Amino acid sequence: MKYLLVLAVLLVAVQVWRHKRGAEVRAQDRPAPPPPSTRTPVPPNAMVTCRHCGLHLPHSEAVRGALGPYCGEEHRRLAEG
Ligand SMILES: [Zn+2]
Repeated sequence: MKYLLVLAVLLVAVQVWRHKRGAEVRAQDRPAPPPPSTRTPVPPNAMVTCRHCGLHLPHSEAVRGALGPYCGEEHRRLAEG
């Protein structure tokens, strides 16, 4: 009876070990995640210059016009009509 218990424990250990190995192999087979884009998008905190008055402001706060960024809707209207 004692040996049966040891055998059972060994079987469970082998099962766990094989399962772990299988998971590792699957992880290696998985294709690598795509590399980060080489094209660098404008970071959200990048500074841009208003095309009308030259004010520097964060890109996220700039008003985007046809010709470029502006500090506000009024300057976009004044510059672009
Ligand atoms: Zn401006």
